[in-house]
Amino acid sequence: MSSIFGLSDAPPRGWRIVQGELVADPTVAGYLARGREIRGLCQQQDCRRTCQVDLEDLARRGLGAARIQELKPLYKCQRLGGCALAFHEKYGTELTVSVLARLKPAVLRIRCGNCRKTTRARPGAVVARLLAEGLGGHETRVEDLAGLIRGECRGCRVRRWEVAVLWGPRDGPGGPGAA
Ligand SMILES: [Zn+2]
Ligand SMILES: [Zn+2]
Repeated sequence: MSSIFGLSDAPPRGWRIVQGELVADPTVAGYLARGREIRGLCQQQDCRRTCQVDLEDLARRGLGAARIQELKPLYKCQRLGGCALAFHEKYGTELTVSVLARLKPAVLRIRCGNCRKTTRARPGAVVARLLAEGLGGHETRVEDLAGLIRGECRGCRVRRWEVAVLWGPRDGPGGPGAA
């Protein structure tokens, strides 16, 4: 549901909410909704076979709910010595911080991968910080955020950040926006 300000209460097409977190839908239907392309290349010297995963065809065959990760092994060849098929994904809709800023329930959770110390930040505030520090801005992808945090954890002095998008009411006690 969109408001006149372009704010939305619903996850973008191709993303879903799993245990309170906004995550990319790992199924064929999710990849299709995001317009993602998947290509494979076998690294095996005598093979070098390339393939493209035809998402529309898979959906037509009723495999829309199948997970991409589980389908990938089916593209391997039967060579003696094994197949070294590696997949690359590209294009499609990316989740940027400015997209998040328009999603009312979305809040970023920044967590230390070592001691689990956690802080929360509104996407709009993160955009402002990225711009101020010259590290990025509106188009910065959410999946790149963890690598852009330069400081180490104040609790344990380790620099290993994990960033996730929480999905819940922003206001009220205990809500993601409470901190
Ligand atoms: Zn192969
Ligand atoms: Zn820590």
